[in-house]
Amino acid sequence: MHIIDRIYIDGAFVEPHGDQWAPLFNPATEEQIGTVRLADTHDADRAVAAAKRAFPAFSSTPKEERIDMLHRLHAAVAARGNDLIDAMREEYGAPSNFIDFSAPRAGNVFLDMAKTLESYDFRRRIGTAEVEMRPSGVAVAITPWNSNYGFICGKLSAAIAAGATMVIKPSEMSAIQTRVITECLHVAGLPEGVFNIVTGDGAVVGSALTAHRDVSKITFTGSTATGRTIVRTAAETMKRVTMELGGKSPSIILDDADLDVAVPQVLAAGFLNSGQACIAGTRILAPESRFKEIEARLREAVKDFKVGDPKDKGVRIGPMVSQKQWDRVQSYIRLGQEEGASLLAGGEGRPEGLSRGWFVRPTIFTGVNNDMRIAREEIFGPVLSLIPYRDEEEAIRIANDTDYGLQAQVFSSDITRARHVADRVEAGRVILNAAPHEPLAPFGGFKQSGFGREFGVFGLEAFLETRAVLG
Ligand code: NAD
Repeated sequence: MHIIDRIYIDGAFVEPHGDQWAPLFNPATEEQIGTVRLADTHDADRAVAAAKRAFPAFSSTPKEERIDMLHRLHAAVAARGNDLIDAMREEYGAPSNFIDFSAPRAGNVFLDMAKTLESYDFRRRIGTAEVEMRPSGVAVAITPWNSNYGFICGKLSAAIAAGATMVIKPSEMSAIQTRVITECLHVAGLPEGVFNIVTGDGAVVGSALTAHRDVSKITFTGSTATGRTIVRTAAETMKRVTMELGGKSPSIILDDADLDVAVPQVLAAGFLNSGQACIAGTRILAPESRFKEIEARLREAVKDFKVGDPKDKGVRIGPMVSQKQWDRVQSYIRLGQEEGASLLAGGEGRPEGLSRGWFVRPTIFTGVNNDMRIAREEIFGPVLSLIPYRDEEEAIRIANDTDYGLQAQVFSSDITRARHVADRVEAGRVILNAAPHEPLAPFGGFKQSGFGREFGVFGLEAFLETRAVLG
């Protein structure tokens, strides 16, 4: 049983003032595996005060020192890699393929940011003016439960590079990961108060931090609905905000695509982290001319997505994070049928042989119309919509007919053609033919998927203010 009864303020693990506790579950077994004591608004104030005290000295450290800190943070996280993976698995049932995708990136982000900082110039001359990029002050990071410690690392690395101090409010559902990552970050020996971590309820601690007068920047990853609330509150004090929100990402298979490349990639992207990923490619756009062939290939390929306890070998889809999320996904599977879509794979209920655990059958709806709610709303589970289109124009129109704009994929055996389609897709990131990851490339959304960018130089500048000095 994990008893988590400490928050991290001013370089030390301290007892929270808050006295509410929340249970923690293993979603693969539905068993309670721990309990976490939640911070309250008093703790939020303490954390902001610590970050504020640390800011003057930290913001003036030479960049070489901050590069060294980023290297120390990387080493400290890498040293506990297996513990972090165990926590991800136990706490939200992350399957191995998602762990392989996200775990190396989480620690490496400190090295990537060190590289960015090495070549970054905080001053430049424009005419008679000297233009300085200055750290934004006390920043707050609010993170979701999925891949929680990865988001903590990404946001903290950029704040450290910029010379900003930070208060982190992780999801209350990922307290085990938070404890392990906090222990790692503590070992790196940063000055007291540079980062503080307070696990608490979003509506209590998250909103107190969002409203706090001494906070100048908020970086948020989570749902669009919560993002909207945060932006409204942050507007009162004109805080700078970065919003990484939800998605309904299209995977566009053009009529000349190599299906040996496209089909496995479309499913891997759709079922990423059991479908509980903002970037999950949940709308598959297929040309009418090859629709039957693509349906048959998907029906066959989905059999490779074994569902089960993520500890078991070969499992590619784990459980939903909570009973609530399981119920929600089931209601969307029912809704899809009511809306007139047909099941190509999966459907309601538990997968065969799994009598406990919040598991969902990997589900693909076919003949989906983009106006259906299953094609418009973020389901956050392994439920995909296969949507037919007549020609390239219609594919682009359907891809863009969404409130979201986080990521898209385009598959074609003609890379110039894929690139032309990519140019017209409204998304912050477009991946052509399963291209490999680029860690320094910016990440973030168009439209209601958010604004601002993370990683590399764009991520660094999100924690900087611009000042011009004349004379
Ligand atoms: P959520 O919006 O419910 O919660 C996210 C965080 O916000 C949590 O820490 C929560 O405690 C906090 N919060 C809740 N109410 C708050 C309030 N009023 N004020 C301040 N903070 C508050 O999201 P979730 O269920 O934890 O995560 C899933 C969502 O996150 C999905 O919509 C997914 O698409 C999105 N997401 C986006 C990205 C991205 O990079 N774009 C990445 C991962 C997840």
